[in-house]
Amino acid sequence: LKPAATAASTADSYPLNHDQIQSPKDTQNFLDNKFVPSQATQWIDLHDPATNNLVTRVPQSTDAELLAAVDSAEKAFKPWKETSLLHRQQILFKYTALIRENWDRLAASITLEQGKTLADARGDVLRGLQVAETACGITTQMTGEVLEVAKDMETRSYREPLGVVAAICPFNFPAMIPLWSIPIATVTGNTLVIKPSERDPGACMILAELAEKAGFPAGVVNIVHGAAKTVDFILDEPRIKAVSFVGSNKAGEYIFSRASANGKRCQANLGAKNHAAVLPDCNKNHALNAIAGAAFGAAGQRCMALSTLVMVGETKEWVAEIADRAKALQMNGGFEEGADLGPVITPQAKKRIEDIIATAEKEGATILLDGRGQKPAKYPNGNWVGPTIIANVKPHMTCYKEEIFGPVLVCLNVETIDEAIELINANEYGNGTAIFTRSGATAGKFQREIEAGQVGINVPIPVPLPMFSFTGNKKSIAGGGASTFYGKPGLQFYTQQKTVTSLWRSEDAVATKASVNMPT
Ligand code: NAD
Repeated sequence: LKPAATAASTADSYPLNHDQIQSPKDTQNFLDNKFVPSQATQWIDLHDPATNNLVTRVPQSTDAELLAAVDSAEKAFKPWKETSLLHRQQILFKYTALIRENWDRLAASITLEQGKTLADARGDVLRGLQVAETACGITTQMTGEVLEVAKDMETRSYREPLGVVAAICPFNFPAMIPLWSIPIATVTGNTLVIKPSERDPGACMILAELAEKAGFPAGVVNIVHGAAKTVDFILDEPRIKAVSFVGSNKAGEYIFSRASANGKRCQANLGAKNHAAVLPDCNKNHALNAIAGAAFGAAGQRCMALSTLVMVGETKEWVAEIADRAKALQMNGGFEEGADLGPVITPQAKKRIEDIIATAEKEGATILLDGRGQKPAKYPNGNWVGPTIIANVKPHMTCYKEEIFGPVLVCLNVETIDEAIELINANEYGNGTAIFTRSGATAGKFQREIEAGQVGINVPIPVPLPMFSFTGNKKSIAGGGASTFYGKPGLQFYTQQKTVTSLWRSEDAVATKASVNMPT
């Protein structure tokens, strides 16, 4: 496997518009701290979602390359584990500084490959960076416990890394989600193999380059590519001890069960259908702006997008005003000044979203605002779906049952807060939810009775900052939420406890007779 001088995603210059990729270069593997061209025979074309121009080809990494990544991570593990925690922390400090320095470059890669606006892509990087910065302070949390359990006898617990771990990432947060794994896995002493989404691996490649620059030794961070074949390799490779997955239910439920059956730890965050309950007593202006932003931002391609509105009582009359706010949003190429939302990821995603809108119409819902057929003049070939609002939706309709993952807000009407809670709790997903009200008592009741794992009170997208954990619930997380990303559970996921019980009897020096009974 020969190292390459340059790679598409590691060039010093980076695109600031959609026309700058003249001659696409292939995406490479990152093995042993080097960019290595793939010998793949199968390639996945990656198109700019705003233009459908070819940006790069992503390899289906070969068996030899997949094995080389695990060999590299396995070889790196022992010396990396034996470095001091403070040494690893120093490298992480440098890493966070480099991510900050390369913030715009990372964001540009995201806008080009994923489609979200540059401002939103900067937020994608920041949310990951915050996890890395918080992980720098993990030193105090790595301490174990000690107790004198009997006279002269004590038990100590230590946190030890697992070994080689893997992360399988989705397309919608190309920087943030790799950064849910890289900092915590490595600072705790593990080595890592990452498979970014085959639809937008560029940001992850830059993160790998920065990892090398920060001083992570060869093999601590490796990147391979591909689709299901690479995933199956990760799930079946015995030297990989833990798998972090974020993505859809279809892939995630399979990955969780196969990883678990193979004896691996697995944390898996899955799909969502996030509801907002809007009460008549809320700050209306705040609620309407928050809802439009959270439904249509990132073209609805966020797992915490607020895709479902439960309008309580008279608030059903407000739907036209939400439509006015949605109409004011500018859909455009993500590099364009003033763009509020970009395209969706692929032509297939666009078709799927449009089909769901058509089905809603057939099933009797009202298409109050129809984003089908809209496109910005400058980008006629992109995967565009404009903000769409579907009103008078009933729970049996396809647009309610399925995660749409596009700029589509579905609206249901109920009369009371109890009905709103009942409706939201009957939904099989439980990632996030929000309530808009001025009443502390109503908010308190909602907070207590609601089953979703992340609750916003007048906050539309209540994603917890990294001192907490990402606590989805129900079908939005595999394994009943036993293992969540970042925060204290993130530390627990990437470490295993070892307890050592020791006896140093003061009398031992003079003892003459063996004790044969079990201590009582
Ligand atoms: P996806 O499941 O299609 O892909 C995620 C990863 O799984 C990719 O790396 C992909 O290569 C791999 N994969 C896809 N299909 C596979 C299969 N059949 N077998 C093995 N591997 C497979 O998800 P996506 O479209 O990239 O991301 C969008 C989804 O992710 C949405 O459902 C969204 O809600 C979810 N998501 C959830 C969270 C969360 O924290 N809950 C965060 C972000 C995204």
